[in-house]
Amino acid sequence: MNTLETDYLVVGSGAVGLAFADTLLQETDARITIVDRHGKPGGHWNDAYAFVALHQPSAFYGVNSLPLGSNRKDAVGVNQGLYELASGPEVSGYFDAVMRQRLLPSGRVSYHPMSDYLGGGRFVSMLSGEETQVRVARKTVDATFFGTSVPATHTPRFAVADGVDLVPPNALPQLWMKPAAQRPQQFVIVGAGKTAMDVGVWLLGSGARPESIHWVVPRDSWLLNRLHVQPGLEFFQETLGGQAAQMEAFAAASSLDDLFERLEAAGIMMRIDRSVHPSMFHFATMSTGEIETLRRITQVIRMGRVQAIDGQGLALDQGRVDMPPRTLYIDCTASAVEPRPGSPIFQGDRIVPQLVRAPQPAFSAALIAYVEAHYPDDATKNALCATVPFPHKLQQYLHCNMANMANQFRWGQDKALSRWIRDCRLDGFGKVIAATSPDDTEKLAVLGRIRAAAMPAMANLQKLAAQGV
Ligand SMILES: Cc1cc2nc3c(=O)[nH]c(=O)nc-3n(C[C@H](O)[C@H](O)[C@H](O)COP(=O)(O)OP(=O)(O)OC[C@H]3O[C@@H](n4cnc5c(N)ncnc54)[C@H](O)[C@@H]3O)c2cc1C
Repeated sequence: MNTLETDYLVVGSGAVGLAFADTLLQETDARITIVDRHGKPGGHWNDAYAFVALHQPSAFYGVNSLPLGSNRKDAVGVNQGLYELASGPEVSGYFDAVMRQRLLPSGRVSYHPMSDYLGGGRFVSMLSGEETQVRVARKTVDATFFGTSVPATHTPRFAVADGVDLVPPNALPQLWMKPAAQRPQQFVIVGAGKTAMDVGVWLLGSGARPESIHWVVPRDSWLLNRLHVQPGLEFFQETLGGQAAQMEAFAAASSLDDLFERLEAAGIMMRIDRSVHPSMFHFATMSTGEIETLRRITQVIRMGRVQAIDGQGLALDQGRVDMPPRTLYIDCTASAVEPRPGSPIFQGDRIVPQLVRAPQPAFSAALIAYVEAHYPDDATKNALCATVPFPHKLQQYLHCNMANMANQFRWGQDKALSRWIRDCRLDGFGKVIAATSPDDTEKLAVLGRIRAAAMPAMANLQKLAAQGV
């Protein structure tokens, strides 16, 4: 067996492992060993469908030391007028550059792709079968907590009869390879998350007729309006003004439904079908252009989850829907973030990066590395890095926001950490606030609204959460 010595062993070279390693490298002189099953850095982005993109601007994603994208706004398409969203191939290329241009040239990082981590500091090469024992002087970092599942690597939980044409979205751009007589005439999108929405937008944008598309939507989702998460100073009213409106809605809402309706009225939350009351929120972030496009799909099947697909059509929780021959089913049922109970992030000789600010896994991992580098013990570190639960059901949105606000408050009490956050490329709006001129009364009024609503917002969120409404 080979042996290796390192200070930190990072398992996983996705966004989380790399954002953690990048900041740790900048803030310490530690040696880092990174192990991953994938053949390239970037985790799930290597398995994504060709037309995948970030939901949120590139400006907030990746690792702290290397910008992603060119900070341009889209001039065309459904994201027109908003800051660019890196495509999947761009994100994969970016993480490859992070490894080649930042981490490896430091001389302190070793990277082991195609290697399965077995626990106890051991990993095995998936190509040679050779095992390596890593002697870890400081800590092992489990950067696999989110367990991201994407269509290409997931197995559907419904029965599929022989002969049914069920594909992941990855197969769609390859349809041109089929002979014309075998190409699908009808499409059924199965699933109602962001991937399903991407597929709907892609099908329509690539020429499919709306009447050829059916969409199985077991549950509707509230969606975050991307206009309110823009990096540029010119979006001050939409971003910080949006935060003020959000705090005011948190402070005033009389129930969970009332909260989401207030956020919708403020333009922060959106839904595709205004006649349906959503029961999910996953931080899926969309533009109004995407929503308008998706509203063109009118054959929406709201009959629960798919139980089986056979040659005649779909069996759902609440009945059957028949489909004609040459129907292509597109599996969008992978859940990007599996619901998992959180655990303390700092656990002795183990670190398990999770969200400390939702919905920002990359920022969270970088902040956790900064805290690891500069604070003395696990109790102090965990106090600064309380985990923020990722919401699935609407009720969890309350807990998510309370945890976000509590962390923000604690960070604000610590000058060095606040300075690091303000300078961190992955932080959203700290730089925008710092750039506000003391003479700009309009902007100062917006910041004043946020401050004024913060405490009442926290108190009311606690009240709503306690009511379990
Ligand atoms: C389509 C999509 C769009 C998204 N858009 C955004 C966005 O705009 N903004 C944003 O902030 N977030 C976004 N996210 C969420 C966020 O990017 C992902 O959740 C994040 O990339 C997850 O990174 P990760 O490192 O936790 O997971 P992964 O990318 O899954 O990486 C984990 C790695 O661990 C490896 N691994 C696991 N177990 C082992 C083992 N035993 N041995 C060796 N290796 C192992 C895996 O091979 C994998 O490479 C998006 C997610 C998806 C799916």
